[in-house]
Amino acid sequence: MKARPELTVEAEDYLKAIYELERADAAAGTNAVAERLGVAAASVSGMLQRLGRLGLVKTERYRGTRLTEPGRTVALQLIRRHRIIESYLVARLGFAWDDVHDEAERLEHAASPELIERMAEVLGNPTADPHGAPIPTAEGMVDERRLASIAALEPGAGAKVLRMSDRDPKLLRYLAGRGIRPGARIRVEAKEPFDGPIILTVGRKRHTIAPGAAGNVWVEPDTAVRRPPKPKTARSRPSA
Ligand SMILES: [Zn+2]
Repeated sequence: MKARPELTVEAEDYLKAIYELERADAAAGTNAVAERLGVAAASVSGMLQRLGRLGLVKTERYRGTRLTEPGRTVALQLIRRHRIIESYLVARLGFAWDDVHDEAERLEHAASPELIERMAEVLGNPTADPHGAPIPTAEGMVDERRLASIAALEPGAGAKVLRMSDRDPKLLRYLAGRGIRPGARIRVEAKEPFDGPIILTVGRKRHTIAPGAAGNVWVEPDTAVRRPPKPKTARSRPSA
């Protein structure tokens, strides 16, 4: 792996934030970056200029800031570090999965590349973190497939949970309390109109969750199969 350029913690966080905004198809404008990092918009443009001089980002008027290839490499290295640390904390140190994000936010800047690679090795080079997010390889390859969230599923659709946002531990605990975690099977039973609650079954249990929560859970929808006609002998079951 290439040596990491000497960057401040702050600069590294900017690169990661810009990567995430690009992934979400949002222009990484000053305000969006500021909001993402919880800093004042006034302080953002100076840092973007500095990163631009280092050749890590490119800012174009009206189009916002984008990562250059070297900038993207740094961002992906950081994301690899973050996700390996989270995996290690959960698998080896007994941390709860809803309790590792903030820890990883700090350690990702401090751990040496050797430590990260040792952690990955001990874990058997995992490909996903405890929240289902793909771990970029040391070479910077990552699965960037776009996933649908539960909020985007139509009533009647079944899906497997692949990944959830780990930014809010309370939300993770809330969802996990309803059985929603990577690998779980869900089925959307009904959706209230006007962005109302979503009724779904997880395993055999029925839950009602808000679209705001459902939007933080990404799934692999079952491939659409034509429903076979009901066999005549089927016993009717209550629809719950
Ligand atoms: Zn995290």
